[in-house]
Amino acid sequence: MSAPDRAGLLGPALGYVGGRWTAADDGRTFPVTDPATGQILAEVPRMGARETVRAIQAANAAAPGWRALSSDERGQLLRTWAALLIDNRDQLARLLVREQGKPLPEAAQEVTYAASFLDWFAEEGRRAYGDVIPAGLPGTRMTAVREPVGVGACITPWNFPIAMITRKAAPALAAGCPIVLKPAEQTPLCALAVCALSERAGIPAGVFNVVVGDAEDAPAVGLELTTRPEVRKLSFTGSTTVGSLLMRQAADTIKSVSLELGGNAPFIVFDDADLDVAISAAMAAKFRNAGQTCVSANRFLVADSVYDDFLAALAEHTAALAVGNGLDPGTDVGPLIDQAAIRKIERHIADAVHRGAKVVTGGEPHRLGGTFFQPTVLADCPPNAEICCEETFGPVAAVTRFNDEDEAVRHANKTPYGLAAYFFTRDTRRVWRVSEALETGIVAVNTGAFSSPVAPFGGVKQSGLGREGGREGIGDWMETKYVCHGGIDG
Ligand code: NAD
Repeated sequence: MSAPDRAGLLGPALGYVGGRWTAADDGRTFPVTDPATGQILAEVPRMGARETVRAIQAANAAAPGWRALSSDERGQLLRTWAALLIDNRDQLARLLVREQGKPLPEAAQEVTYAASFLDWFAEEGRRAYGDVIPAGLPGTRMTAVREPVGVGACITPWNFPIAMITRKAAPALAAGCPIVLKPAEQTPLCALAVCALSERAGIPAGVFNVVVGDAEDAPAVGLELTTRPEVRKLSFTGSTTVGSLLMRQAADTIKSVSLELGGNAPFIVFDDADLDVAISAAMAAKFRNAGQTCVSANRFLVADSVYDDFLAALAEHTAALAVGNGLDPGTDVGPLIDQAAIRKIERHIADAVHRGAKVVTGGEPHRLGGTFFQPTVLADCPPNAEICCEETFGPVAAVTRFNDEDEAVRHANKTPYGLAAYFFTRDTRRVWRVSEALETGIVAVNTGAFSSPVAPFGGVKQSGLGREGGREGIGDWMETKYVCHGGIDG
């Protein structure tokens, strides 16, 4: 059986440069594995600096033609691409589970979410027009014209291996910018499947290029993407460490840089919260994708008067979660991405326990072995424990008690990160007071789910720069040109 058949790919397991499916120059490949079974799904090319330069050249060559299309024409292609994602949702979702591990219903939701960016930005592209500025000078016309930034480089992580691609590709292409995508080494097959559908949708050669490679290839690929002058914008989603390195590399050519980085989301339950709402939101915000989301609730801060009730309900729901292969019906929590993730979780739990936290449920690798871990609740975590200071990226809820609103907000803000925050209250005055006091780019009040293509998603502090989604999402891919036309009357 050929590798593509085994993995359920929608096209070749090759890179895609200038409209051609491409092997690595030296023919080298690397294996992509299923985190649930360790099975090799396919061999994928190890592309490096030379292949990346060719992809940048292809994008640059395609730029004038893509820019010259009307926003309607570009939008039509994006809508066709979105429809193909939906038509192939089942196959894409199964591939996503096999390559990344999340439960099948979550994978299907991710495909729908990914398609929604293509649809939204197909429309936003048509509305991305400029302004006429009141000049105050007779015979002078001042305008602000919006133009595509130029060729973009997009580097994406493995945790949402389809949606993170369209969240970047859709606004870039709608704005008139061709891109070179470098997907995560753990999940190149999802990227190549999305790419195969872009080809079927009729996206012209050179507009969407994919350079795949192993972890060791990423620095060389990243160096070309960040230092070549033809690349005018870098859009990165991943860890703060890599984001800061790429930003430094991009400095010499003064590129526009958007960074969606790590988080350390507080989840605050005030004394007047509806606990049923808070618990159901907690389960989604903590255990979706086995806790491997940048907006995962990392620190549960719970008011003293409701602490015991909240903790008991959280532990009961957590202990009931079914761990297993994401393809098995009924699985709530799939495997983690790799052994390094397991080691980090174990280190965080050991450190918290050493500092006085108690394991209420879970706390150990799951009996299934591999990269499966028990969904875990830790009570009485001291705010200085590693698990409260760093993103855990796993199915572990760290719970801490607080006495009043000021203390909760102080704890919540005591981190260099600022992506998302959640809080639960019935007091409308508190809703606005606390929303304004939280130092994050996203605030979720009485809900555990907020991601939408129509809303601006992004962080402050060391969680990033720029916004994806909403009006802001396309704005980040456009430059404003000021045109001053004097002497119209004369
Ligand atoms: P990572 O930074 O290790 O990898 C992300 C991407 O960067 C991958 O494609 C990887 O190959 C690439 N990369 C690594 N080193 C590179 C280099 N030197 N040059 C160029 N590219 C390089 O992150 P990860 O651990 O795979 O992903 C998880 C992180 O992503 C978490 O911190 C999570 O919070 C964050 N994330 C953030 C958002 C958001 O929207 N803010 C969304 C998803 C994930």
